[in-house]
Amino acid sequence: MDLNDDMLNLILSKTDNYYCIGVCKQWYDIIIKNSIICETCNKIVKMYDTVLWITDDNDIVCHGYYGDIKKYKTLKKIIFRDPRFLTKIKRVSIGLWLIAIKISSFPYDLIKNINEKWYTHALKYNPKYLQYIKNPTYSMCVDIVNNCFDGLQYVPENFKSYELCLTAVKKNGSVLKYVPDQFQSKEMGLVAVRDNISYLRYINNPSEELIIEILSDDKVHMFRNFNWPEYIKNPTEDIYIALYNREPVYLDLIGYEQ
Ligand SMILES: [Zn+2]
Repeated sequence: MDLNDDMLNLILSKTDNYYCIGVCKQWYDIIIKNSIICETCNKIVKMYDTVLWITDDNDIVCHGYYGDIKKYKTLKKIIFRDPRFLTKIKRVSIGLWLIAIKISSFPYDLIKNINEKWYTHALKYNPKYLQYIKNPTYSMCVDIVNNCFDGLQYVPENFKSYELCLTAVKKNGSVLKYVPDQFQSKEMGLVAVRDNISYLRYINNPSEELIIEILSDDKVHMFRNFNWPEYIKNPTEDIYIALYNREPVYLDLIGYEQ
């Protein structure tokens, strides 16, 4: 072992800052020769006998933490109890951050200067993080709509396509409120109200034809005490007929001009 090796071993045992290898080319070469580099994340995970980045088997990302596994697991437990603890950790890793953001009480903006790659991982848990990604892609938008029942609300307007909106509305009719006017087709409206008739309120100026079609659609569940005057403004004669055909008791709700 030459002098450089000895010195490095000494330094590494005294510091958790492995950037010290950047000091000179000679050290760097020795370190790389004596290191294990993760093929997935390119982190130097081990130098000599010093383990730098470790991974818990339960993590979805490799090499989530700088430190030993026992401490890492304890930190995870603490974060689980109180995600704000993340601010007390010297070198926050994506593994720890992902645990915190899965907890609903986590104040999202608590940790600043997050690597953009982290947000991409975070989208799996919360579509809200799309807003922090500088150049989102259409496939990210498709993913968040597929992963989350109301993900459509976070999709930027220029990425909303008819297909994407329809996929979202099929998952949950209430997201019709996030569908731009130009995509509010008859098909879209019908799919939404089949989930719940009260989503009729999210259809912009529904036509007489659409309302009659909804009232006549067996797949639309109409509960007996459905307070339709709240949703159907200025009903026409044909709408009254459709209401009567669907459920005669609805006619009891006819309002009369004074
Ligand atoms: Zn790795």
